[in-house]
Amino acid sequence: MVPPTEAPSRTENRPARKRKTRGEGQWALGYREPLNANERSKKDDNPLNVRQRIETIYAHRGFDSIDPADLRGRFRWMGLYTQRAPGIPGARTGTIEPEELDDRYFMLRVRVDGGALTTEQLRTIGEISQTYARDTADITDRQNVQLHWVRIEDMPTIWQKLEAVGLYTTEACGDCPRVILGSPVAGIAADEIVDGTPAIREIAEKYIGDQSLSNLPRKYKTAISGSPRWDTVPETNDISFVGVEHPEHGPGFDLWVGGGLSTNPKLAVRLGAWVPLEEVAEVWNAVTQLFRDYGYRRLRNRARLKFLVADWGAEKFRDVLENEYLGRKLLDGPAPETPTGPRDHLGVHPQRDGNFYVGVKSAAGRVSGSTLVEAAKAAERVGSRRVRTTVEQNLLVLDVPESEVDTLVSDLAKLGLSADPSPWRRHVMACTGIEFCKLAIVETKQRAIDLIEDLERRLADIQGDVDNPVTINLNGCPNACARTQVADIGLKGQMVPDGEGNQVEGFQVHLGGGLGQDAGFGRKIRGHKVISAELGDYVERLVRRYLDQREAGERFAQ
Ligand code: SF4
Repeated sequence: MVPPTEAPSRTENRPARKRKTRGEGQWALGYREPLNANERSKKDDNPLNVRQRIETIYAHRGFDSIDPADLRGRFRWMGLYTQRAPGIPGARTGTIEPEELDDRYFMLRVRVDGGALTTEQLRTIGEISQTYARDTADITDRQNVQLHWVRIEDMPTIWQKLEAVGLYTTEACGDCPRVILGSPVAGIAADEIVDGTPAIREIAEKYIGDQSLSNLPRKYKTAISGSPRWDTVPETNDISFVGVEHPEHGPGFDLWVGGGLSTNPKLAVRLGAWVPLEEVAEVWNAVTQLFRDYGYRRLRNRARLKFLVADWGAEKFRDVLENEYLGRKLLDGPAPETPTGPRDHLGVHPQRDGNFYVGVKSAAGRVSGSTLVEAAKAAERVGSRRVRTTVEQNLLVLDVPESEVDTLVSDLAKLGLSADPSPWRRHVMACTGIEFCKLAIVETKQRAIDLIEDLERRLADIQGDVDNPVTINLNGCPNACARTQVADIGLKGQMVPDGEGNQVEGFQVHLGGGLGQDAGFGRKIRGHKVISAELGDYVERLVRRYLDQREAGERFAQ
């Protein structure tokens, strides 16, 4: 439906028109004064210092003792957000005082770099959820696990339990290097170009929690994958290392910068540079420092790296990176081949060591602590000790002997984790939404779960015809945490008219977005707004029309 957009190349990447001379808050140009409340808060006290206050003061004196600047700012650096107070309708989001929106409980994001967990770690997260988070758990589309209903009093114990198994929540949120996405099949996939795991480990060990990188202009998202499937959505990250074979130097990574969705979405651009595995951490550090120093801090809505990249263009960005930060030239390298197949690793697949991995799907990432505990036990029963999360909110169990595959598939299915989901279960994603998120305008998680079940009933007759996936991403507001703009059917939560003069929960529809071959943003079609209650009708009409009218092999995004 939408012409495919080629991933921009270095040469195609023109520097944007000259911007006004007024400072944008770039430290490197001398604009170091605090320019807005967020910048002031970060300058007043390094956000990483909040951990100590939580452990020594807030956890003992309770919620009411928390300094508002910590509560609504620095807590994020420890993976903590206040939940949305129950019962406040989405129509009021953005119009009321922050304290009215704050619940006395927290969302806690557990950082899972590379999506890599041992079964012991998975079980620990599940048990923490059972004890301290009312058995809630969501697998996020950035490979993290989020818990809800967490009390500040329990945080020291929760950290103790997490850290005892090598997990942490540091910089899971905030203006800092967030979780590092990694291929869920790193080190095991037969088609892997290069295993990025050592680079992910090195970055996490050296730089996460480093105070010199903990005050960035805005959040900073990293993806490192040597899979030819681009299974870390590299197009949408601030910095991505994408596996590619150099004709002379062998396997390594192509360096991309400046991707990001939200409002003003942009696809990452290639710098045309090839980086060997052992230099990834150094180059990552240099790009991160460049962003820290030259990133725009004056306006929050222009502070992501994508705005700097758009203004400078790839050539200038690479020049500054090489000359001011690396002190050497990077090698030129080829573009990786754009993948065509699925990226989600669902189902049963052979590993290169003769074992198998099993990828399973929950409904829109919603699981529970008990499900995670039982999934860890099921994996251990068949001899596995490794699991992975994916950017499609899936779970993978690695290292399964062939003789145990069926047992595992059946045990996971009993937990609601399917290795062979319907096309709708497979391709529907949802962000946190109004249940817990303070920015949300509409419900998303339960809406997605209901939609999946609705579509499985409505479209049972044509299920076998859906050979090309139709992705449906539900987002509770314009922030696009569940990647609104790159779905076939991207749904952006907003209040919409119901035809009888009322404003009710619904979605603005973006049609025909995609990644890879179909990389480009969905079009907002005038009049394509749907009220939440009629979502099933709407999607059914769209899908049937697509199947009726498509040419042989034509994808939805075409
Ligand atoms: Fe919250 Fe909006 Fe992100 Fe959904 S898209 S999690 S509603 S900020």
